[in-house]
Order: sequence, then structure tokens, then C-alpha cells
Amino acid sequence: MANFYVVATPIGNLEDITLRAIRILGEVDLILAEDTRVTRKLLDHYNIKTRTQSYHSQSKLSKIDQIIKMIEEGKNIALVSDAGTPTISDPGMLLISKIKEHFKDEVSIVPIPGASAVITALSASGVPSSEFLFLGFLPHKKGRETLFREITESARTVVFYESPHRIIKTLTSLNEHIPNRNVVVARELTKIYEELVSGTPEELLAYFEINTDKVRGEFVVIVEAK
Ligand code: SAM
Repeated sequence: MANFYVVATPIGNLEDITLRAIRILGEVDLILAEDTRVTRKLLDHYNIKTRTQSYHSQSKLSKIDQIIKMIEEGKNIALVSDAGTPTISDPGMLLISKIKEHFKDEVSIVPIPGASAVITALSASGVPSSEFLFLGFLPHKKGRETLFREITESARTVVFYESPHRIIKTLTSLNEHIPNRNVVVARELTKIYEELVSGTPEELLAYFEINTDKVRGEFVVIVEAK
């Protein structure tokens, strides 16, 4: 029986990968990667020679059929994304559901846990995180206002991903809706310029206004509950 592995990879620091993930990536017949060049850097670092093929959000349904055929031939396959845990604001959900639908219990979908930016940010935020609401990326237009209202009313910590192009816009919206709430911005986690900055939305806006060089990289935003 073939196995299909869903393997978490580092979110920056290449050391943040489990021994099991390294072993599995070395043992499988094929690694499906969002961007094979990004994954190749990780594989080279660990001297893993396994063949890679791309699987990303724009992949066609015919690609899924092709993957199903390879599993039928008995190939063990691993799915990775560019960084962190596949399917968490990353591709893979449709592929996994199609594999489950096609093979029922004949193929094991095996999660290989590891880094994810949402959990990494929460773990060092100092914000209650026994319960939280994760929103992925906020919509750019439609539904954005509704989500800000949801964040405003949430009885749980709210976490979401943000890009450097929108972080100021988002902090400005938070300042309009929840000017007194504690917010944590986790930037470039596990990388050289890692930082977790907290304060009211206005304080954070002031911080990024002074430190314009820090409006770059990757961001996780955490908003304390109401
Ligand atoms: N699947 C990934 C995970 O498990 O974290 C998330 C992929 S999502 C396409 C990419 C977003 O995750 C980035 O835009 C950023 O918001 C967040 N992210 C990823 N790596 C990060 C890091 N090192 N520091 C802060 N945020 C990060």
C-alpha cells in the first residue's frame, strides 16, 4: 500500500525540520513541491536527491489524475509547500481530498508535522492561545469589512497572515475598529530579522512609520480577544 506524506518544512531557518521529515523526503519516490527551486534549496542542504515535480495552486485537475496514477503504480509521494505546513493557506487540500475519494482506505495520508507560521507566532506572542481563530489571509475587498467586524467582536484571539504590501493598510483598519486592543505583529519568524512587536494599532503604525525598512518580509498578525 502506498503512502502519501504531507510534510512540513521550515518557515525560514533551515534547521527547523524534523528528523522524520528529512528521512521521509529522502525515502519517497517523488516530492510534489509548490516551487521546485525553493524546495531544491532545502533538499540540497540535507543532501536529499529525491526527484521533485511541481504542484501548486494553479495546477490543473489533470495533474491530480496524473498523481493518482502514480500512487496506483505504488509510488510513495510527499507533498511540501514553499514554507511551513502544506494546506495551511497553501495548496494541497483539493489533491488530498481527491486522493481520499479515489482510494478510500487503500492509501494512507500521513501528516509529518513541523513548522507553521501561525503556531510559531502564537507560541511567543504572550497572548492567550489555548483557543484562537485563524483567518488565513484577509480578503482584499469583498468581505474585508465583515471580517474586521468579526475580529472586533471575537471572544477569541484572532490570527491572520499579512503581506508587506498590506500590513500598513491592515493596521490602519485595526486602528479604526479596535484602537485600544493589544496587537502583536510577528515578522520574519526564524530568520535573521525576526521580531515580535506588540502594542495598540496606533503604536504599531508609529513603529513602522519610523522603521520603514521593517515594512518588508513576512508577517503574522495576532489580535487579542475582546
Ligand atoms: N503554509 C504556511 C505555514 O504553515 O505557515 C503558510 C503559507 S502562506 C502562503 C505564507 C504566509 O505565511 C506569509 O505571507 C506570512 O504571512 C506567513 N509566514 C510564512 N513564513 C513566515 C515567517 N517566517 N514569518 C512570518 N510570517 C510567515
